[in-house]
Amino acid sequence: MSQVHILKHPLIDHKLTIIRNKETKTKEFRETVSEIAALLTYEITRNLSLKEKEIETPVSKTLGFELKDEVVIVPILRAGLGMVDGIHNLIPSAKIGHIGLYRDEKTLEAKEYYAKFPLEIENSIVLLIDPMLATGNSTIKAIEILKEKKAKEIIFVGLVGSPEGVEKLQKAYPETKIYLAALDEKLNENGYIVPGLGDAGDRLFGTK
Ligand code: URA
Repeated sequence: MSQVHILKHPLIDHKLTIIRNKETKTKEFRETVSEIAALLTYEITRNLSLKEKEIETPVSKTLGFELKDEVVIVPILRAGLGMVDGIHNLIPSAKIGHIGLYRDEKTLEAKEYYAKFPLEIENSIVLLIDPMLATGNSTIKAIEILKEKKAKEIIFVGLVGSPEGVEKLQKAYPETKIYLAALDEKLNENGYIVPGLGDAGDRLFGTK
């Protein structure tokens, strides 16, 4: 089974068009990124395991369920931060870690400048989030870091991917599930996804 899932849904396509539009301003961009992240999460979490939990309703005892595994949300700084709230609203029990990476201008490799995780990371299901899967370099580095922390499963969640990034990530970590709202045409010579949505970090934080 392919590990790449492009989640098609009318609401996702509608909202994706809003964030692709260069006329969309920071506030609407940020809110819409968060909404798409929540819609993706609803679908991605469909197969999470449950464990039984005995509770009492106001009327009687009953057997209910709760998530079996710890879920840890890990945004890649800084654009990944824009997807955290949408996911966290749906999985409030999830803990949040952070990974900061920069690009070494000589080697073009992704290097870590910040990494902080909750204790629960070991044996957890990690939702690794970054709106743009462009070259794949930072995602691959982030997965390498998460593997050292002994996460049980790493699921990548992005908004827009490039064929180049998806292929590279699949080659490096074939077992990692990749969920995207769209798979675009290509990367351009400046490393932007085409048609894409521009610089996700700048558009989220109004830095350009
Ligand atoms: N990062 C972005 O924010 N946008 C792209 O198109 C590629 C990488």
